Amino acid sequence: MTDARTTQLADRLTAVHQRIAAACAAAHRPVDDVRLVVITKYFPATDLHRLADLGVIDIGESRDQEAAAKLAELPASVRERLRVHFIGQIQSNKARHIAAYADRVQSVDRAKVLAPLARGALERGRVLPIFLQVDLAGDDQGRGGVLPAKLPALAEAAATTEGLELVGLMAVAPLHADPAAAFERLASLSQQLRADHPGATLISAGMSGDLEQAVAAGATHLRVGSAILGDRPAPR
Ligand SMILES: *Cc1c(COP(=O)(O)O)cnc(C)c1O
Repeated sequence: MTDARTTQLADRLTAVHQRIAAACAAAHRPVDDVRLVVITKYFPATDLHRLADLGVIDIGESRDQEAAAKLAELPASVRERLRVHFIGQIQSNKARHIAAYADRVQSVDRAKVLAPLARGALERGRVLPIFLQVDLAGDDQGRGGVLPAKLPALAEAAATTEGLELVGLMAVAPLHADPAAAFERLASLSQQLRADHPGATLISAGMSGDLEQAVAAGATHLRVGSAILGDRPAPR
């Protein structure tokens, strides 16, 4: 597909890659330490197709039904090129279904979803890499996440669930907070986590508005939506 929308996506993708490169240079980090996950929630399957044609591999979705429907719309040859990250809140009755298509789940925040995620992954004949989502606000702003105090127990449960691989932590900077401080906190939680789970090295932090602060704090994955796709349309 090459049309005006493709050109727009290409230009914005280039601009975001430039921001990431500049942030990596400022932080003295190699640019390939940081992976861009393009968050396509609320945008149509045709945009996923365009992004895949532009070389994007990692995309993120936050709603189960929407994600499954969009992936089913893509030609198999396009779907195969994408690595799909699930980043939304997980209802436990949807967890098994999410694991049937997601290649990574970044938003695991309670033990109840571990068994159904593992079941979905094993039914698909693979191990599912998961991130634990941390609630950095600690005041239940409704954006999901496990409280830092409960992280060690959840990590232990995740690490001992067959079918899942604990790969790291994910967080959203709290509203009205300094993102730099929030991401430093996440980095220190990651360091503590790695004392018990040395393989859990990944840190997913940073969105369109705060990716520079996330790179400075050591993020390995950035989740960028609106800076590439534009303002989100109303949910369907
Ligand atoms: C929507 C969303 C993003 C992307 O946010 P933008 O500000 O559009 O870049 C990142 N992470 C999560 C968890 C999201 O739900």
